[in-house]
Amino acid sequence: MAAHTALARYGVIGNPIGHSRSPFIHQAFAEQTGITLEYTAILAPLDGFEATVAAFRQQGGRGLNVTVPFKAQAFALCNHLSDQAARAGAVNTLIFPDDPHGPIQGDNTDGVGLLRDLAFHGITVQGKKILLLGAGGAARGVLAPLLAEQPALLLIANRHKQTAAALSADFADLAPKTPLTACALDAIPAEPFDLIINATSTGLSDTQLPLPDAVIHANTVVYDMAYGAEPTVFMRWGQARGAQAFDGLGMLVEQAAMSFYRWHGLTPDTRPLRHLLSTTQ
Ligand code: NDP
Repeated sequence: MAAHTALARYGVIGNPIGHSRSPFIHQAFAEQTGITLEYTAILAPLDGFEATVAAFRQQGGRGLNVTVPFKAQAFALCNHLSDQAARAGAVNTLIFPDDPHGPIQGDNTDGVGLLRDLAFHGITVQGKKILLLGAGGAARGVLAPLLAEQPALLLIANRHKQTAAALSADFADLAPKTPLTACALDAIPAEPFDLIINATSTGLSDTQLPLPDAVIHANTVVYDMAYGAEPTVFMRWGQARGAQAFDGLGMLVEQAAMSFYRWHGLTPDTRPLRHLLSTTQ
C-alpha cells in the first residue's frame, strides 16, 4: 500500500476572516517555490481562540497567521518570541513544532512588511517627519522598524490619548535621537508631515478622521494599512489635498512573505503577486 503523507497545514485565524487574501497569497508563494501545503482561513469564536489553535495543532497544523482581534492572545500563547513580537506585544505569525504539545514560537512580521512596502514605493523614512494614526496592535508592530530608520520625528495620534502616550513611553528607549511624542487624534498640530500612516481600524469604514489640512505639504505621502477594491476615505482625503496615497495591500503581501520565510526558510518573489492582486482586486 502506498504511504499516505498528510499535507503540511497552515492558515490564517481571525474573526471575521472571510475577506482574507492570505490563503490566495500563501498558495501563490507555495506554487512559486515548489512547496506543497494547505493554507485555509479559520474563523475562531471570539471566546475560543486558544481552543481553535489547539484543535488545529492536533490536526497537524504547523503555522498560523493571526489577525484581528487575536494578536495579543497569540502573544500570550507563545513560549518563545522574536524581538519584534516581544516589543510589539502582539504576534501575527505562530510557528508550531511537530509535537502538538511542543513549544510555540511567535513573530510579528507587520513592521518588516510595512518597511518593505514603503521601500518598494521608493519612500524613505530616514530624516522624515512621521504622523502615525492609531495605537493598536498594528501601530505597535510597526513602531520599532520605523524608529530604526531614524525619522526626524514621530508623533503618535490616537482617539484615546492615553493609549498613544503609553505606546510612546514603551518605545522611547529605541529612539534616543528621534523626538517620539503622543497626542489625541483631535489635537494634531496644524503643521506639515512627510509621511502619514493610518493604522486605525477605520480604514474600510466611512469614518473621516479629524485631521487638519495643514498636515499635508507638497510632497506628503499618505499610507493606509487598510486595503480594498477602492481607495479608502483616508487615501481620498490625502489625494484631494495633493498627497501621494498608497493602501496596505503591498504591506499584506510583504508581511506574508516574511511569515512564509519563517515557516519554510524560503523567500518568495513578491512582485508577480503584487501585480496580480492589484489587477484582480
Ligand atoms: P486594533 O483593534 O488593535 O487597533 C485599532 C486602532 O484604531 C486603535 O488605535 C483605535 O483607537 C483606532 N480606532 C478604532 N475605531 C476608531 C474610530 N472610529 N476613530 C478613530 N480611531 C479608531 O487594530 P490593529 O491595530 O490590529 O489594525 C489596525 C488596522 O490595520 C486594521 O484596519 C487592519 O486591517 C490593518 N492592518 C493591515 C495590515 C496589512 O498587512 N496591510 C497588517 C496589520 C493591520 P482607540 O485605541 O482609541 O480605540
